[in-house]
Amino acid sequence: MMYCKNCGKEINENADICIHCGVFTDNGHVPNRVSYTAPDKPDIGLNFISFLIPIIGFIYYAVYRESFPLKSDSCGKWALAGFLINVIIVICVCLV
Ligand SMILES: [Zn+2]
Repeated sequence: MMYCKNCGKEINENADICIHCGVFTDNGHVPNRVSYTAPDKPDIGLNFISFLIPIIGFIYYAVYRESFPLKSDSCGKWALAGFLINVIIVICVCLV
């Protein structure tokens, strides 16, 4: 048994989080927000896919804008461009 460094109550020595106060223990399993080291930079392939299939770009943007702001921002812009072009094409087709 060990004791929580925050509230001092007894907790399981394998516990990652104190069940009493919710503070992380010293077990070394503290989730690292930057555990993945993928670089955050615009991805040409991803931009291209977003341009062709805007919905994928929009979803990517919504999901990763926190983790990869630069990458998702760039892909969101391409998705928007692709979306606008699709709209223009549809309008042209309907007008013909
Ligand atoms: Zn505690």
